[in-house]
Amino acid sequence: RRKAGFERFDSPGKGRGLRITRSFKVGELLFSSPAYSYVLSVKERGCYCEFCFTRKEHLARCGKCKKAFYCNVKCQKGDWPMHKLECSAMTAFGENWCPSETSRLVARILARKKTQKQRCVSEKILLIEELQSHVEDVDNEKREMNEADIAGLHRFYSKHLEFPDHKDLLTLFSQVACNGFTIEDDELSHMGTAIYPDVALINHSCLPSVIVTYNGTSAEVRAVQDMKPGDEVLISYIDLLYPTDDRNNRLRESYYFTCDCQECKSRSKDKAKLKVRKQSDPIEPEVVNNMVRYARKTIREFRLMEMCEQSLEEMGAVFDDSNVYMLHMMYQAMGVCLYMEDIDGAVRYGEKILKPYSKLYPPYSLNVSSMYLKLGRLYMGLGRRSMGISAFKKAMVIMEVAHGKDHYYLTELHKEMAQK
Ligand SMILES: [Zn+2]
Ligand SMILES: [Zn+2]
Ligand SMILES: [Zn+2]
Repeated sequence: RRKAGFERFDSPGKGRGLRITRSFKVGELLFSSPAYSYVLSVKERGCYCEFCFTRKEHLARCGKCKKAFYCNVKCQKGDWPMHKLECSAMTAFGENWCPSETSRLVARILARKKTQKQRCVSEKILLIEELQSHVEDVDNEKREMNEADIAGLHRFYSKHLEFPDHKDLLTLFSQVACNGFTIEDDELSHMGTAIYPDVALINHSCLPSVIVTYNGTSAEVRAVQDMKPGDEVLISYIDLLYPTDDRNNRLRESYYFTCDCQECKSRSKDKAKLKVRKQSDPIEPEVVNNMVRYARKTIREFRLMEMCEQSLEEMGAVFDDSNVYMLHMMYQAMGVCLYMEDIDGAVRYGEKILKPYSKLYPPYSLNVSSMYLKLGRLYMGLGRRSMGISAFKKAMVIMEVAHGKDHYYLTELHKEMAQK
């Protein structure tokens, strides 16, 4: 048998890791790892075969649920042990079928654990049970997410699976959070999630020696540096675009450690990454620091916008636009739009919110009047004057009652309406 060329070892300061026992050249494949378990994203259904992740048109549909798509009968048969976990449940729950992708993956892991009783220990470098969980580091927010995922698991998969106790499930979800891989296409858009125990053994560096790509549902690990026997195999867990502090914040948040690679020590690229404009007077360090803080905040807000849109899409499959949970998210989304100075976006959300708001709140509500005011001011700013005046008048009807006719808010508002 051919020697693998790599082995498990104890990496100083990092715990277990993977190192090579022969040399590898740039571009050389270290190994290819079939997924222990994997799942195609719901939004990619119909674009890829659920079993082999081949992308092509005219895939054949599962005749029962009409929601899973395959290359051919062979792929469909191959996927059945996993697809059967969802096939009848999707039909039974209809529009209400909405487990998270993590819950879907965990269901598959549990099914796989059950069927695979005899394990070939010698073939695997790392067993699924050995994956790190960091369950003791999980903060409240993540714990709540895990609890919601566990609830989803019980709701949508209890017909086909027996579950371990709650504590073991929490550990499993934490393991998946730390060790799950996002399968991405060539434009790095998300296709699915998978577990590759062998690849999960590889430690992080901001100067990685290998990168992981996907071929169907398998992960392939290739050298991006020339490597010599004894070198540790290192991948990057994160987007390396960002400066050292940002990278380490991300690593601590998601993986509970701080990196001490050469790049983190030297910070050699930070200056280039945080390059400021050339100006006649040099920019004060404090101004730069403030701008970094502002940028980080804005980035978080962009992610918040994504979350708003995503949750609106998810909830929108079930809830009407006038549902209060939808209104809550639209309100948040409007706030993010305003913060990012996307006025048109804010107006769109505002208009959607107002009609149901007027119906759902009591006749004289400050929530409604303030929304009319907000929208009115946005219209005025966009030069849509008659729309603005109309919104102000509706606000005033409420405010005259709630604030009293002589309140200075109303005096101010009359002035605003008279301007221009
Ligand atoms: Zn296929
Ligand atoms: Zn089906
Ligand atoms: Zn580093």
